[in-house]
Amino acid sequence: MRELNTIAVVGASLAGLRAVQALHREGFTGAVTLIGGERHLPYNRPPLSKSMLRGDDEITLPGAEELGEHWLKGRHAVSLDAGDKRLTLDDGSEVRYDGLVIATGARPRRLADHPRGVHTLRTVEDSLALRAELAAGPARVVVIGGGFIGGEVASTVRALGLPVTLVDSSPYPMLGALGEDASRWLAGHHRDHGVDLVGGVRVTGFESDGRVTGVRLDDGRTLPADLVIAGMGVEPNTGWLEGSGLELGDGVLCDENLFAVGAADVVAAGDVARWPHSLYGGALVRVEHWSNANDQGTAAALNLLAGPANAKPFDDLPSFATHVHGARVQTAGLPHLADESRLVAGSPDEGRFALAFAKDGVLVGAVAVNSPKDLIRVKRAVAAGGSLESLV
Ligand SMILES: Cc1cc2nc3c(=O)[nH]c(=O)nc-3n(C[C@H](O)[C@H](O)[C@H](O)COP(=O)(O)OP(=O)(O)OC[C@H]3O[C@@H](n4cnc5c(N)ncnc54)[C@H](O)[C@@H]3O)c2cc1C
Repeated sequence: MRELNTIAVVGASLAGLRAVQALHREGFTGAVTLIGGERHLPYNRPPLSKSMLRGDDEITLPGAEELGEHWLKGRHAVSLDAGDKRLTLDDGSEVRYDGLVIATGARPRRLADHPRGVHTLRTVEDSLALRAELAAGPARVVVIGGGFIGGEVASTVRALGLPVTLVDSSPYPMLGALGEDASRWLAGHHRDHGVDLVGGVRVTGFESDGRVTGVRLDDGRTLPADLVIAGMGVEPNTGWLEGSGLELGDGVLCDENLFAVGAADVVAAGDVARWPHSLYGGALVRVEHWSNANDQGTAAALNLLAGPANAKPFDDLPSFATHVHGARVQTAGLPHLADESRLVAGSPDEGRFALAFAKDGVLVGAVAVNSPKDLIRVKRAVAAGGSLESLV
C-alpha cells in the first residue's frame, strides 16, 4: 500500500459507497471524506422504476449504515484543481486530498422544455413524484424511450392497469443493446401486454397548457398525454470537472486501471468512468449498469491504494438484467460491437432463448430471455475469448 493520508470520494451512491467500504476493509487508516449531492443514505436505483412505483419503499443499499454520519451529505463538489489536489464544494469550503475517487454517476437526458407532468427517473424523489401521479390514474401515459428504464416503467404502468404508449426512435426497443432478433421479440412482448408501441420516430417537444397535453413527434403527429416519462438515456456528471486538468469525453477518461488519464492520484468508477476494456481490444467503454458500479467502486479504491505501478486492470464483463412484463431479459458483454449473432438456445416463439454475438469470429456478448443458465454458459465463453463455434 502506498503512502496516502487523506482520500476524498465524490459521489455517495453505489460506486462511492463500495469505494469507501473497500478502503475500510483494506485497513486504510487515513481520513476518508465522502461528499454526496443527495441527502439520503446511499440507495439502490433499480427499484425506482419497479417495486418503488408499486409502493415498496425499502431501497437502502446494504452497507450504507456503515457510513454513520462521517460524510458530507447534500454537498456538491463544484470544481476540482487536480494539480493542486483540491476540491471546492457548493458552500465555498475546500477539501484537500492525497487520493481522489470520482463516482458522480450520471443524470437523465432532457429535451429543452419539460412542462409539468413530464418526469425523468433517477432519484428517490423522482420515483415518489411519479408514483403519486400514477396513483391519480392518468388516462394517457406516454413513455419516451424503450431502453431498460422506459421498458420497466411501461411494464409497471400496465401492471397498475393503466394504458401506456411507448415511443422509441428505433423500430424496436433496445435494438442497440439486444440486437435485432431479441429487440423484435421485445416489441411483440410489449404489444402482447397491451403497450401501444410507436417505433422509428423521435420526440421533438411537448404541447402544454401549463401542464403537458401532448408529445410532438418528428413525423408530424402529436400523441395526447396527461403524464409523460422521459427515459432518453443519461449523461455522465462531469460538468463540475471542466477546467480541472482531467481529460473528459463522455465521462472521465481513464486508463485500464481506472486512473484518470495522466493523474496518478485520481481514479473514477461507475457510470461516470470511461476506460479501455482489454477484452474488446482496448476500446473505450462506459457502462451504466449496477454490477459495474458495484465492482468498479471497489476495484478503483484498491488501485488507488496500490498505486499505478501495482494496480490491476479492470476487465470484468459488463452484465445487466431487466424485467419486463414478467420476462427476465439479461445481457453480458457488449453485443452492440458484434458483426454476427446466432441463436444458441430456445426460440423467440417460445419466449425463452439465448443469442451469442461475435465480432471477427470472436465472442463479444450474449443476450438471454428467460434463459439464465444459457446466459451464464455464453458469458463464460465470452470471458474466455471463445468463438461462436466453441458453443456448439
Ligand atoms: C430507475 C433506474 C433503474 C435502474 N435499473 C437498473 C437495472 O435493473 N439493472 C442495472 O444493472 N442497472 C440499473 N440501473 C442503473 C444503475 O442504478 C446505475 O448503473 C448505478 O446507480 C450507477 O451507480 P454510480 O454510483 O456510478 O452513480 P449514481 O448512482 O448515479 O450516483 C452518483 C451520485 O453522485 C452524486 N453526485 C453527482 N455529482 C456530484 C457532485 N458534483 N458532488 C457530489 N455528489 C455528486 C449524485 O447525486 C449521486 O448520488 C438503473 C438506474 C435507474 C435510474
